[in-house]
Amino acid sequence: MPELRRDPILGRWNIIAAERASRPSDFHHEPTTPRGGFCPFDEGHEDKTPPEVLAYREPGTQPDTPGWRVRVVSNKYPALRIEGDLDKKGVGMYDRMQGIGAHEIIIEAPEHIVSPTSLSPERFADVIRAYKDRLNDLMGDPRFKFGIVFKNVGSAAGASLEHSHSQLIVTPVVPNVIARELRGALEFYNFRGRCIFCDIVRQEHEQGVRVVIDDPDFLVFEPFASRFPFETWLIPTRHESQFERITSHQINRLAAVLLDTLRRLEATLEAPPYNYIVHSAPFRVQDAEVFRGALGPPPIIEGGGLEHYHWHIEIIPRLTRVAGFEWGTGLYINPVPPETSAEYLREAVR
Ligand SMILES: [Zn+2]
Ligand SMILES: [Zn+2]
Ligand SMILES: [Zn+2]
Repeated sequence: MPELRRDPILGRWNIIAAERASRPSDFHHEPTTPRGGFCPFDEGHEDKTPPEVLAYREPGTQPDTPGWRVRVVSNKYPALRIEGDLDKKGVGMYDRMQGIGAHEIIIEAPEHIVSPTSLSPERFADVIRAYKDRLNDLMGDPRFKFGIVFKNVGSAAGASLEHSHSQLIVTPVVPNVIARELRGALEFYNFRGRCIFCDIVRQEHEQGVRVVIDDPDFLVFEPFASRFPFETWLIPTRHESQFERITSHQINRLAAVLLDTLRRLEATLEAPPYNYIVHSAPFRVQDAEVFRGALGPPPIIEGGGLEHYHWHIEIIPRLTRVAGFEWGTGLYINPVPPETSAEYLREAVR
């Protein structure tokens, strides 16, 4: 019997329809294996990308030359551009502004690898440190409100280059998905006086049925109302609304736990295409006031951050196609119950 489940943060219903398919081997996809050919991200090809904005390098090496471990460059074809003014305008009933922002590429290794799971936790920690350093730099610009770090692996997940990399986009607006999470979390907070994400961590840890990795610093689990098969979330167990405030201890733990999670997904689903997305609060707490009128001001923590929102990483393996029903209704049909996928991932060979 299919089951409707409500996402407690967004208030959105999804359909868990277990009988349609439920074994990992039922999902056919192109595995993310190296295709070869010329790669602009390889060490020695630094002149084939825009100049670096950050690199962790061997002492004595020059920018845009070999000798780096992680390298961040502007996207050659940016979705938003860094120069200019917002020039906000109303055109009749419509609002517009210039496409100002930042779009950067974090090249995760100088050698040609297609997945971060080829890296040691120490090296992957450098990648996460680069996310933090770039966000901290860009958030100082008063034009920008929000930053998102994400990763596309495999052409089905939108990756045009196979060399392992992440992307960072900073926007002059709070995007819709984050605004809805902020609103849903604030509704819960106004009613119960607690962070909904902290409550989810507590309940999932206690119940255990959807847990993949129960680490003291990060909980990895399959969300109750998962939209997609093997959708996996990673949440810091200590409350924090802003990813960019992550400590160096947490960076090391996140590197180990995220790699462990990705390895389990790769082992269970045969190197699937996937996206991961870091969801974090807007740069400045006052920009969380997207729905102030109806819900009142967001609760601000002295010393920084929001009391009702909690940063997290959503990992979406791209195993199914979103079609007319999903686009038309926002109701997602997930053929694998999260309890089942959690069991597969817990038992996956490391
Ligand atoms: Zn490469
Ligand atoms: Zn929390
Ligand atoms: Zn989220």
